[in-house]
Amino acid sequence: MPLQTVVDFVQEKAPLFQELSDRIWESPELGLHEVRSSAVLADALEADGFHVERGVAWMPTAFTATYGEGRPVIGLLGEFDALPSLSQARGVAEHRPLVAGGPGHGCGHNLLGTAAAAAAMAVKRAIDRGQVRGTVRFYGCPAEETLVGKVFMVKAGLFADVDCALTWHPGSNNAVANGSSLAMNSAKFTFHGVSSHAAAAPDRGRSALDAVELMNVGVNFLREHVPSTTRIHYVITNGGLGPNVVPNEAQVWYYVRAPKRRDVEEIYGRVLNIAKGACQMTDTTHDVRLLCGCYDTLANRVLGDRMHANMTAIGAPKFTEEERHLARQLQASVGEVAVAKAIEQMRKHGAEVAPGTELYEAVAAQWGYGEVGGGSTDVGDVSYVVPTAQVNTVTAPIATPGHSWQNVVAVGSSIGQKGMRYAAQVMATTCCDLMRDPELVSKAQAEFREATAGSPYVSPVRDVAEPPLNG
Ligand SMILES: [Zn+2]
Repeated sequence: MPLQTVVDFVQEKAPLFQELSDRIWESPELGLHEVRSSAVLADALEADGFHVERGVAWMPTAFTATYGEGRPVIGLLGEFDALPSLSQARGVAEHRPLVAGGPGHGCGHNLLGTAAAAAAMAVKRAIDRGQVRGTVRFYGCPAEETLVGKVFMVKAGLFADVDCALTWHPGSNNAVANGSSLAMNSAKFTFHGVSSHAAAAPDRGRSALDAVELMNVGVNFLREHVPSTTRIHYVITNGGLGPNVVPNEAQVWYYVRAPKRRDVEEIYGRVLNIAKGACQMTDTTHDVRLLCGCYDTLANRVLGDRMHANMTAIGAPKFTEEERHLARQLQASVGEVAVAKAIEQMRKHGAEVAPGTELYEAVAAQWGYGEVGGGSTDVGDVSYVVPTAQVNTVTAPIATPGHSWQNVVAVGSSIGQKGMRYAAQVMATTCCDLMRDPELVSKAQAEFREATAGSPYVSPVRDVAEPPLNG
């Protein structure tokens, strides 16, 4: 049975967790610049008696907050970064930016970090009451959206003493996130040429933009000769300033993604070669800056099963007519077809959900081992150094996409609050289970050792000295 103490604690302290998550929602900050958001959670944990270390892993907004002593050491992962161009007014079912072009919480990280902090505080209460023994550590992880925070926190050795890690992500389903995600590298290629008058002296110029274009052509030909699950995308961040000047500098920013880290390493190596080729073709030089990279995600069935059991035992939140009304309005803005498709997808993935449902109120069956989703997350790096599990809970209506203004509204509403508290309860009860049952920890670790045998974790940023604090 889930430990009732921690379930009740999260419910009792609902106003505190609403205040913390609202403060983060109201003050959205981009990755590595989450000065206020990071402080909201670090201050709250410190006030509750946690030992807080700020500015860890070369990042001013990264921190850890630890309570308790001895084994096991359980990590709870929290995020708090926002997304660009998603500024949005609260409580309205229409796109209404508060600050033109400003950031917003389209991924619900205002709830993500707060729920993990709430879970940590709930576990502290159980430790204080002598119901469980061990150490709980909240990880204040910045810059998830740019896949930076946890990769550097792992590199800094912050997970070296951790036995298991738990986390969650806001969504429109109540389910254990058993699927994997794409491993990735993010790199900027800057080419250097010689500027000259594009009409009067083109022979004197060497175009850095030509090199960018030829690199892109080369990579587009590469697409035919990589596994079909590979994803490569780029944007030209500098293409010169005027057509009458041969650009002496140009830059292209690439993401290379694949289901396994080793494939990213291999394909990225070929992209590096193409960049060299583009230099030779254009008589230019270049430099490459790897901003970050991450692993795919390794699920842990032992931990996932326990989270599922706790999700089921606690029971999914129910929503009021008022919340359903807001959800219906948000769904109307994405269209009926999108809603029908999303429901079909959920049914395929183990959720019993009736047509026309606005907000899912049950717990989906276990699904997704061996499946790979479309995105990437730096939870992947933690999952390859420590047995890790994560759940999704309902913080938004079915079919409103992540990274959308509709999502900003949902995660800023009471719908988001309910999903946040549920996630906190699931993480806290699972953490307490691990503290009460050493065999559960051993089983999770045995599964982890078997899954990672023969392929030790190699940091994607092993050659990168510091996180990209300035872009
Ligand atoms: Zn997210």
